[in-house]
Amino acid sequence: MRYLSTRGQSAPQAFCDILLGGLAPDGGLYLPESYPQITRAELDAWRQLSYADLAFEILSKFIDDIPAADLKAIVAKTYTADVYRFTRNGGNAAEITPLTKLEDGLYTQELSNGPTLAFKDMAMQLLGNLFEYVLDQRGQSINILGATSGDTGSAAEYAMRGKHNVKVFMLSPDGKMSAFQRAQMYSLTDANIFNIAVRGMFDDAQDIVKAVSNDAEFKAKYKIGAVNSINWARVAAQIVYYFQGYFLATKSNDEQVAFCVPSGNFGNICAGHIARQMGLPIAKLVLATNENDVLDEFFKTGVYRPRTSAETSVTSSPSMDISKASNFERFVFDLVGRDPAIVRELWAKVDKGEAFDLSSTVHWQNRERFGFVSGKSSHIDRINTIRFAQGRYNVMLDTHTADGLKVALENRIPGVNMVVLETAQPAKFEETIREALGAEPVRPAELKGIEALEQHVVVMDPEVNAIKQFIVEHVQ
Ligand SMILES: *Cc1c(COP(=O)(O)O)cnc(C)c1O
Repeated sequence: MRYLSTRGQSAPQAFCDILLGGLAPDGGLYLPESYPQITRAELDAWRQLSYADLAFEILSKFIDDIPAADLKAIVAKTYTADVYRFTRNGGNAAEITPLTKLEDGLYTQELSNGPTLAFKDMAMQLLGNLFEYVLDQRGQSINILGATSGDTGSAAEYAMRGKHNVKVFMLSPDGKMSAFQRAQMYSLTDANIFNIAVRGMFDDAQDIVKAVSNDAEFKAKYKIGAVNSINWARVAAQIVYYFQGYFLATKSNDEQVAFCVPSGNFGNICAGHIARQMGLPIAKLVLATNENDVLDEFFKTGVYRPRTSAETSVTSSPSMDISKASNFERFVFDLVGRDPAIVRELWAKVDKGEAFDLSSTVHWQNRERFGFVSGKSSHIDRINTIRFAQGRYNVMLDTHTADGLKVALENRIPGVNMVVLETAQPAKFEETIREALGAEPVRPAELKGIEALEQHVVVMDPEVNAIKQFIVEHVQ
């Protein structure tokens, strides 16, 4: 399997060659040259498999440059009931991403039972093990530099902690994350994890990462890498739980399922799109946004208008607060018939902060066959949905999943089971749970009191040179 750039001007690569990198050299995103097609016989056989065995079968279709026995071992050590042990609502940890039934035909799929209680652990834990394996094989090392407003940074740290040949430098906005999120990241004591709290906002932290990444000489000399959501291996890992959700929500492979996905950078739902392209019987992919509705607007109008940071609101579902969706280019590549010249033209506009409009094109007319519908949610919708789910189903939802349920309820298809992907646990977003329910969210016993642990973080000004200096001093 070779990987192509959506912009068509980079040489095709093998899986391990794109694993450690980010964008293709031409600025595009990598995608497989074609989507493997799943036969009915495979689907029937896969229904019986454990999550790890299912992950091996699916990932084997995309990864042909790691020997099968090694890939199998990596996947087996990633997807264990122990790693994803924080189940709720009676979920069976052995299923890794179990369903919670809300009512007939309506489910949530628990994707946030991993160490940081958000769905990013599903892919990031695999990435940690893949990185360690490939770096060992090649005798290389990497220094991961990232910026986080919460979920990504903690997922990356818990995936990379203690791994050989990997160090993590994670910038976070000083004082802007929840006490729980700070405790999750800053209480780690692993020698390869460095937390840097930047005096400023998330954008200031992000700008530093961009500035360092644009310094090609520094980047090469200090082996700076990233684990952001455009990483292809993260998307690939996420395909697996769509298959698992389908098997758990159906009795036979003659049935169809709809998935509703709380979306930000389009990474999660991009994996659903690929699962559907592979032949998984998905009736609809329902995309849910919060107040930052750039994607809902696109699926309603055909116009994609990236926002400025001034136009982007800080909401109570903060992991969906995006101004543009970094994985969206992958979907648009498929939508325009995989023509890289069209993608180049469209992203020449996006990269200048301009909008593009597909509404009068044949591609937009063809969009039906991709199965997307969309909707949006606001703070008051979120509060009402958290109350509704608690009252009607006795299930406590986090704010992002509440956005998903709100939009799912507007898009149900008679006779088709709807699965809302649960992207985080309510424990991560205590303040809004208190506002909605007047109660504290449930938290896994193991994580009680983590706010009291000693924290390891340095606070720095948002100055590129100072942060580069910090990295230089700590990579040796
Ligand atoms: C990252 C995140 C999302 C958005 O996922 P994308 O892949 O960026 O669309 C939604 N909910 C939570 C809790 C997240 O952490």
